[in-house]
Order: sequence, then structure tokens, then C-alpha cells
Amino acid sequence: MFEIIISEIPREGEKREFKNIKIDFEDNYYDIIKANVDFCSFFIYKSGDDIKIKGKIKGSYSLVCSRCLEIFEKDFSQDVSVTFKPFYETQREGEEIELTLKEMKVNLYKGDRISILDLIKEEIYILVPLKPLCREDCKGLCPICGKNRNKEECDCQKEEFSSKFAILKTLLKEGRK
Ligand SMILES: [Zn+2]
Ligand SMILES: [Zn+2]
Repeated sequence: MFEIIISEIPREGEKREFKNIKIDFEDNYYDIIKANVDFCSFFIYKSGDDIKIKGKIKGSYSLVCSRCLEIFEKDFSQDVSVTFKPFYETQREGEEIELTLKEMKVNLYKGDRISILDLIKEEIYILVPLKPLCREDCKGLCPICGKNRNKEECDCQKEEFSSKFAILKTLLKEGRK
């Protein structure tokens, strides 16, 4: 359902729209759990054997916070501009070409179909930060008791501080003797 059949793309290109796509990231790549794409709209056309797709994707995705490990949601809106080249071309020219293609944001297609789901996944991967944060000032987990410090205060660091302070005090007293 969410795919483009290459042989059916008209010569002048065509506009395609997709709504309410739910994607599960089972591979758990980059800490993404799932995405809800509310809307995407593409203009698809052929250029020789290349397939060009331009448009926009809007929705939200769920991530794991790198500090507190809670799952949180983030809205996104992404402009898309990708080129799909037939797989055989790179096969012919070797691996080095394949690497440069990746750098140039060129994708490959095999056979007669391009998966819209894979395309959306790729676009979301690009958006995900290296260290996702549920909010800028996320306090994270306490390294001592493991509690989520966004939700409850713990006394670990206070205690640590006061015990250090106590040691200092005794040292000072000792010094005075
Ligand atoms: Zn967090
Ligand atoms: Zn604690």
C-alpha cells in the first residue's frame, strides 16, 4: 500500500499523498521506538532511470531520552528531496561508487518498487539527535540510587555533600589541635 510502482509513474510525474502511517522501529536503531506520520506529500518523477522524490513529511516520533531513559514524543516536519538510482548501476561500478552515493544522499531501488515506509524511516533517522533529550534541562537518573530526578528528589547528593563537609570539618578540627 505504501509504495511506488516505478512502471506506473507517468512521464510528466505525479503527486502522491499518504496519511496516518504508523511505523514501528523494531530494529531500535538510534533509540527510535515508533513514528506516526500524519501526512506526507510527494512529487515523483523519472529522470532517465533515476526516480526523484520531492516533498514533505509531517508527524511525530517517540524516542528514548539518553539521560533519564524515559520515552518521549517529538513533532517533526521534514522536507524531502531524494534520488533513487537502479541497483544494477552501482553493482557494475563497484563498492566505492556505492559509498559516494550514500554521501550524496542517493538511494537505490531494486525491481519495480520503492517503499514509502523505508523512505520515511531514512528521513527520520537523519533527524534523530545523537543524544536525544526529553527536555533541555533533563536532570537524568541519580547515579547513586537510580531514581529519575525529573520526577522525585533524592537525598543522595545532599548526603554525599554533607558527608564530605563533615570530613572537612573534622580535618579542620584535627588541624587546630
Ligand atoms: Zn530525560
Ligand atoms: Zn539518588
